[in-house]
Amino acid sequence: MPRPIEARIDRDALLHNYLLARSRCPGSRAWAVVKANAYGHGLLTAADALAETADGFALLDLAEAVALREAGIRQPILLLEGFFTADDLELVAEHRLSLVVHRLDQLQMLRRVGLPLRVPVYVKFNTGMNRLGFRPEALAALREELANNPAVSEVTLMTHFADADGGQGIDWQLRRFHEMAGEWRGPVSLANSAAILCYPQAGRDWIRPGIMLYGGSPFADESAEALGLRPVMTLSSQIIGVQTIAAGETVGYGCTFRAERETRVGVVACGYADGYPRHAPTGTPVLVGGRRTRTLGRVSMDMLAVDLSDLREAGIGTPVTLWGEGLAADEVAMAAGTISYELFCALAKRVPVKVV
Ligand SMILES: *Cc1c(COP(=O)(O)O)cnc(C)c1O
Repeated sequence: MPRPIEARIDRDALLHNYLLARSRCPGSRAWAVVKANAYGHGLLTAADALAETADGFALLDLAEAVALREAGIRQPILLLEGFFTADDLELVAEHRLSLVVHRLDQLQMLRRVGLPLRVPVYVKFNTGMNRLGFRPEALAALREELANNPAVSEVTLMTHFADADGGQGIDWQLRRFHEMAGEWRGPVSLANSAAILCYPQAGRDWIRPGIMLYGGSPFADESAEALGLRPVMTLSSQIIGVQTIAAGETVGYGCTFRAERETRVGVVACGYADGYPRHAPTGTPVLVGGRRTRTLGRVSMDMLAVDLSDLREAGIGTPVTLWGEGLAADEVAMAAGTISYELFCALAKRVPVKVV
């Protein structure tokens, strides 16, 4: 028998979350953001769950885009970082991919290569994220390049928000965006999950939901459940060992948890090599037999310990939910000082995945 750990991926929940994103912004179409192996959920699993429904798929990696085409996906596919060298462009054309361009030389390369067809382009403005995109002083050259570029078909203007989930909001970036866009009447794409949920009026032509598709809340102070999102990934395992320790004894590496009373400790077949965050401290929430308890001590590579003191009926073989159905990944992430995005993306290859 294999180790009892498993990640269950709920296709209906993914579809539900996608439709919820789109319903927040009526009139907008929605790129399903499936970068990073669909935030750890499996690219082809996610694409398959949304194949009949999604308006398009957005990701980073050219090879992943090709894999989607080879799996039969016919919707538009957007490369969120564009392409990296002119050699990539043959595949871009062959598979009819759409491109984000964030540097002038990408457009120049596109022009020089002489593709057999024209490519839809998302021109990315840097309005304050300061990661990728054109700044206002680059606009004149950009306009001239676009006017003379026979390789470009439809142009969409886009930007990315830095703090749609925080105190800075989006108005400052929207102002810069509109200053840069000027009289532009063509399509526009602005909103990530946080903006879709907080500022649906910024939905415009194309929204770009990512984390919300997977049932993660983009907000520190609002749960996914309260937002109407359903968890897509449930990471579960079982108790494989039980120790009853006396007051004063410790658990795990570094002896970081010391029992104040007699404590029943359950050992779970899940560790950081499965993708569980090593930084999760004592007290991180976990479900044992459907009941909430806490982790104890340091997470090791293949195991972690949980408190069974108040769970008399729990023992060897009792199911454990690390996150997902019944325990939001956001809560576990918060306890570990990270965000659900990172938990999902870190799911290790060795964990068997079951798609339902
Ligand atoms: C990842 C990404 C998104 C999705 O962001 P979420 O916060 O996961 O919704 C949207 N747009 C771009 C450009 C991205 O890189």
